[in-house]
Amino acid sequence: MQHIVIIGCGVIGASIAYELSREPQFRITVLDRQPPAQEATGAALGVLMGIISQKTKGRAWAMRQASMKRYETLIPELEAITGKDIPWNRQGILKLLFEGDDRAKWGRLAEFRQSQGWRLEQWDWEMIRSRCPQIQNPRVTGAVYSPDDRQVDPTKLTLALVEAAQQNGVTFRFNANVTQLRQEPSTADRFTCQQVQLENEMLSADWVVVSAGLGSMQLTQTFNQPIALQPVLGQAMRIKLIQPMGDLHFQPVITGEDIHIVPLGNAEYWIGATVEFPASDEGMVNLERPQTDLLETVWQGAIALCPELAQADVLHTWSGVRPRPSNRPAPIVEPIANYTNVLLATGHYRNGVLLAPATAQMVRSMLLDHLR
Ligand SMILES: Cc1cc2nc3c(=O)[nH]c(=O)nc-3n(C[C@H](O)[C@H](O)[C@H](O)COP(=O)(O)OP(=O)(O)OC[C@H]3O[C@@H](n4cnc5c(N)ncnc54)[C@H](O)[C@@H]3O)c2cc1C
Repeated sequence: MQHIVIIGCGVIGASIAYELSREPQFRITVLDRQPPAQEATGAALGVLMGIISQKTKGRAWAMRQASMKRYETLIPELEAITGKDIPWNRQGILKLLFEGDDRAKWGRLAEFRQSQGWRLEQWDWEMIRSRCPQIQNPRVTGAVYSPDDRQVDPTKLTLALVEAAQQNGVTFRFNANVTQLRQEPSTADRFTCQQVQLENEMLSADWVVVSAGLGSMQLTQTFNQPIALQPVLGQAMRIKLIQPMGDLHFQPVITGEDIHIVPLGNAEYWIGATVEFPASDEGMVNLERPQTDLLETVWQGAIALCPELAQADVLHTWSGVRPRPSNRPAPIVEPIANYTNVLLATGHYRNGVLLAPATAQMVRSMLLDHLR
């Protein structure tokens, strides 16, 4: 049996663990220095902008499409295995358009998606008013409604993936800080990593999957080609109204000018998120003191889209840091060059929840291809 060691238990590591746990030839151990879903995953809003994304070809679209398809089976599968509900909004995403937005571009995308078997509807102002009367902003000129896009609670999803993987025999070790990936020469120009160094012990591995989010950077520092990730801060908030906005039976995610309004039920909503770059590529954003004025700008932007929100109580605010690859597109899902047995699954930046199922499928295929 091949021993696969997965480092990191955010939504990416947990998705990989569950996907691999369905393969009998793997023995799997997941290591995390914290409990699951504490870093980027715990901050995410879980908006899955797959079909409504402007990506139409190559890996970027293939991963989006694969994820959207897999989510439809994954959520009921996990709910059946764990016996727990995973908050999963199947009412789609409504993207608002403003003066200056290229309506023709969205029309072309809608036609193209139709040819691919997906739906995108173009809405005029009348349609917006009748379906989502909570939107009252004179600058909104129309909308694109994507009924096939979704939203999921990223923390509950990750916990369900962990529980389901555990039931399939995966070992999870939390409070397990990986300090180093030990490398040895394998051939003249290649290395192998058969030992994972924890604080007080060494763990042997046939394959190592690095899905440690921003922590992946430090883990690959000793390698020939360390990966470079930039931390991009995001702040968000949870708010509560006296009653839900708009039609009780139609509560899609509303997104406009990069602000998401995510219905949670019980008249509560997530609102977010800021996108805050560090001063330099290598710089760290200040997580201890996020700039509250930037979150306030997002909040006021949300109120400008749905004025009823001004009556809401803010229940709490939080921040997290997205792992963004420097100088290359997100995400990084590939073997490390010059290593025989290390795979990277990291750098998912703003779309880690969206791309988690496709990432897990890619890692599974890479491992199975190598073992063939
Ligand atoms: C505010 C905000 C909103 C977002 N909204 C969305 C959204 O709507 N949709 C979407 O798709 N994405 C969204 N994202 C992005 C998404 O959160 C990330 O892309 C995704 O969570 C990355 O997952 P991950 O598992 O790679 O990383 P993480 O969740 O950061 O997990 C990495 C794990 O690795 C562990 N680790 C690190 N180093 C080590 C080590 N040396 N040893 C052991 N363990 C280690 C950490 O403890 C952590 O648990 C959002 C992000 C933020 C911040």
